[in-house]
Amino acid sequence: MFKRVLLKLSGEFLAGDSGFGISPETTAGLAHLITQAHAGTGVELAIVIGGGNLWRGARNGAGMDPATADYIGMLGTVMNAMALQDAMEAAGQPTRVMSAIQMQAVAEPYIRRRAMRHLEKGRVVIFGGGNGAPFFTTDTTSTLRALEIGADVVLMAKNKVDGVYDSDPQKNPDARRFDTLTHMDVVERRLEVMDATALTLCQDKGLPIVVFDLFGEGNLRRLLSGERVGTLIQT
Ligand code: UDP
Repeated sequence: MFKRVLLKLSGEFLAGDSGFGISPETTAGLAHLITQAHAGTGVELAIVIGGGNLWRGARNGAGMDPATADYIGMLGTVMNAMALQDAMEAAGQPTRVMSAIQMQAVAEPYIRRRAMRHLEKGRVVIFGGGNGAPFFTTDTTSTLRALEIGADVVLMAKNKVDGVYDSDPQKNPDARRFDTLTHMDVVERRLEVMDATALTLCQDKGLPIVVFDLFGEGNLRRLLSGERVGTLIQT
């Protein structure tokens, strides 16, 4: 049974059918799903939100100074965090946004002990602004924040993929899904779980990861209630 978890959401979860931008309807649906799944479980929930629906430094910033392009991406994650907070509070869940890049008018600055205090009080904390440093992704932010706040696990939410497979299940009908893996298995088989820097950090610190389908019926609720869902990666 988990006491405190870190949920990683890609920015795409906020986009509508176009896959780009923030759709208020999609965001409301997402917030509803998370709030319902979390309600009454007693599990402390922190969220890291990505920014790929708005901007990815390497892709959208081609030709720019790479650090500047990444900072734009980090600002995008704060926009997503604000949209998700708005929707979660509308769904009845008190929520705080903490940003790694200071912008006091819209988000609290990230202060580790303060984040933990919010969690203890039953607030959901959304970490925006990535790590506050370029050349990283929000996968590393998930791992870093999870370790900082003492989360039991990183929950990597996926859309339409219900775990880690030995090959792409969209292309190979015989693809096999793993129930459990070690961090080393993931590294050696080059399985797609999170980027290499984030994975190495999880491996070094023995932080478990669960890869699961966020839209699978009852999946998040079951996970938060201590059931096994998706693929569990641990040392
Ligand atoms: N980013 C960054 N440092 C971080 C986190 C994010 O520079 O610590 C930038 C980077 O440009 C990245 C963008 O923010 O491409 C959006 O984050 P990410 O690609 O992780 O979003 P996701 O794929 O999860 O939606």
